[in-house]
Amino acid sequence: MARPVQYNITDKPLEKPISLVSAPEGYAGEGFFASKLSDVVGLARKNSIWPLPFATSCCGIEFMALMASHYDLARFGSERVSFTPRQCDLLMVMGTIAKKMAPVVKQVYLQMAEPRWVLAMGACASSGGIFDTYSVLQGIDQIIPVDVYVPGCPPRPEAVIDGFMRIQDLVGQENLRRRNSDRYRELMETYGIQ
Ligand code: SF4
Repeated sequence: MARPVQYNITDKPLEKPISLVSAPEGYAGEGFFASKLSDVVGLARKNSIWPLPFATSCCGIEFMALMASHYDLARFGSERVSFTPRQCDLLMVMGTIAKKMAPVVKQVYLQMAEPRWVLAMGACASSGGIFDTYSVLQGIDQIIPVDVYVPGCPPRPEAVIDGFMRIQDLVGQENLRRRNSDRYRELMETYGIQ
């Protein structure tokens, strides 16, 4: 005999109304809206960040919580976690990075297209954490530039969301010419990146 199947067909009202991001500053008129290109590009980029999670240990578990339904990073337009560096904007490094692993992290970073951003999640990725030993990299900023550090061991998902929103601020306000500037080139050269 077939099992009785029950479907959840009760309409559940939203606790808060769905809100849309506001338009950038500009001039609006009858049938037109004019704004700066960089503001529009920034708005699109910051609300569609595709993260690449590079997780080696316990902080990766916290990232799983971040992606699951309770914290739900999809609310920020980032549900599309990319495991191929060529299709993502944000490298999220979480966990202890051994010195043997460092060239792999750098390789992944190099395979990402510009513009790219980096978030160091947790004490280990940011500074080596409690592993002050010969074999552990004392912070990923020794090999690649980092945009935002999230402290904690491990950081709670709320803290990671806060760090992610700082990344969104950077992405939204970034000048479109920044990546072609001498200053950015000099920064890359300090990491041996052409
Ligand atoms: S910061 Fe703490 S929780 Fe995160 S990887 Fe290091 S030891 Fe694990």
